[in-house]
Amino acid sequence: METEINKGHFIETIIREDIANNKNQGRVATRFPPEPNGYLHIGHAKSICLNFNMAGKFNGKCNLRFDDSNPAKEKQVYIDSIRSTVNWLGFEFGTPYYASDYFVRLYEFALELIKKGKAYVCSLSPDEIREYRGTLTEPGKNSPFRDRSVEENLDLFSRMKAGEFEEGRHTLRAKIDMASPNINLRDPIIYRVKKASHPRTGNTWCIYPMYDFTHSLSDALEGITHSLCSLEFEDHRPLYDWILDVLSTPCHPQQIEFARLNINYTVLSKRKLQRLVEEGHVGGWDDPRLPTLEGIRRRGYTPESIRKFCELIGVSRKESRVDMGLLESCLRDDLNERAPRVMAVLRPLKITIENYPEGMTETLEAANHPQKEDMGKRQITFSREIFIEQDDFMENPPKKFFRLGPGREVRLRYAYLVTCKEVVKDENGHITELICTYDPATKGGNTPDGRKVKGTLHWVNAKDCLDATVRLYDRLFKDENPEQDKQDFIENLNPASLEELKGCKLEKSLSQILPEKVYQFERMGYFCLDSKEGTKDHPVFNRTVTLKDTWTRLSKTEIKI
Ligand code: ATP
Ligand code: MG
Repeated sequence: METEINKGHFIETIIREDIANNKNQGRVATRFPPEPNGYLHIGHAKSICLNFNMAGKFNGKCNLRFDDSNPAKEKQVYIDSIRSTVNWLGFEFGTPYYASDYFVRLYEFALELIKKGKAYVCSLSPDEIREYRGTLTEPGKNSPFRDRSVEENLDLFSRMKAGEFEEGRHTLRAKIDMASPNINLRDPIIYRVKKASHPRTGNTWCIYPMYDFTHSLSDALEGITHSLCSLEFEDHRPLYDWILDVLSTPCHPQQIEFARLNINYTVLSKRKLQRLVEEGHVGGWDDPRLPTLEGIRRRGYTPESIRKFCELIGVSRKESRVDMGLLESCLRDDLNERAPRVMAVLRPLKITIENYPEGMTETLEAANHPQKEDMGKRQITFSREIFIEQDDFMENPPKKFFRLGPGREVRLRYAYLVTCKEVVKDENGHITELICTYDPATKGGNTPDGRKVKGTLHWVNAKDCLDATVRLYDRLFKDENPEQDKQDFIENLNPASLEELKGCKLEKSLSQILPEKVYQFERMGYFCLDSKEGTKDHPVFNRTVTLKDTWTRLSKTEIKI
């Protein structure tokens, strides 16, 4: 028997019922419809996963369609980025669709509306239109141009198209109801003059259709069955339906709204993200601290972890904030399985092993994943001089500190046991180096005499390593909800969201890797090579995520979904 969980979320339930009732002949078609006026963020991933997964689950089709009807804000770079990002997330869409490909048909639909007496050319100024529209509590007033004859409307509209009028001089408006409690139905503008060149249609048009008109008709032209969108479009649904009822379209898709994704400690709005970029608070649209998909991809997030996250947060009509810790735990779970292990020292402290022969280099074996033999082994080198992490040494260690201290013995992972003999300091009293001895009988970290050594440290061969810059990222905002209290969200930025470490020492095998492929630096976290900055000899690495969740302990009550 099917359980509630198996049935999925409410949209899946609606689709199942529609199929059972043979609505749309049992066909399912969805679309992801971005406006190409910015880069995608993790909120969009929720919509992408929902649309593609519903189509996938019910043997249907999901279109990637660009709702590109506002040339002023749209650019080819956004189109390119959106296409590659949707692919990266793991979804196939074939050839993308563009609302601009329907401009001729949309124009014909506008003519049909005029001929049906359902649209008119209005010559009120933009200010007057606003004034006549009324408010939430007061009805609007009819435009004095509302009763123009069909002939006059056709004439004026074709002259708008021919470029005879300046922007704002005339608009084409649907004739619905100026007294409607829903402002979207108060004779909404459906076409306006815009003397702008379009990324795809160039200068062919100087009138452009408005979003609601374009969106509903594009859905219908593509034979979409379920038009899934976020809750802010709920008040637009009556207009969506009005347009498709009045016009002779091939079908009438059903619009269904769901709650947007919000995540704490970040912002998910193109406008706000744009401000962060333009005011230089971050390094660009793909800054690894941003929730843009380009940003988190550069940081090392995997598509699998994002898809898993979208599955876990579910789909409902209730607005909520999801804990960033949930996204990070999805990532950790994925990386824990797949990321090869390597050794890297982020804050190096040099060790000289005084009884190790000078000039000798030894090759040792290290497992690429301690729990997965099939991931194989690699060779690492060892010599008289190595680096360990500064934090792994204490001059006066407390009892529970199982790492290195004067006179103490620790295991160097995959290598030998070493004992600290001497602490070398500079004139200011800062530790510059440790002198140790090693036990040649403990190769591979084994103790033939069975003596117990609790601490195992990672290390890097000083004679055979890569010098790198490593960037550690923290939350972009200090507050859980950076947008609350009407305060400017910029004031909530976390000044410590980026810490850059120079002079980090990495295992040599990391000189051969590709960007975005994530490695676990043993004991330090997950890291990947930055795709943009650094050189082959001096790479830059991004910390993708820490090993443990240091921010929140995930409990059922904290995952508000
Ligand atoms: P923003 O509000 O960030 O500027 P948008 O909604 O204007 O984004 P569109 O390009 O219009 O961006 O979005 C394409 C689709 O993605 C829409 O169907 C929209 O409902 C959906 N979407 C956008 N943001 C979210 C979000 N945070 N959660 C879920 N879906 C979203
Ligand atoms: Mg929007």
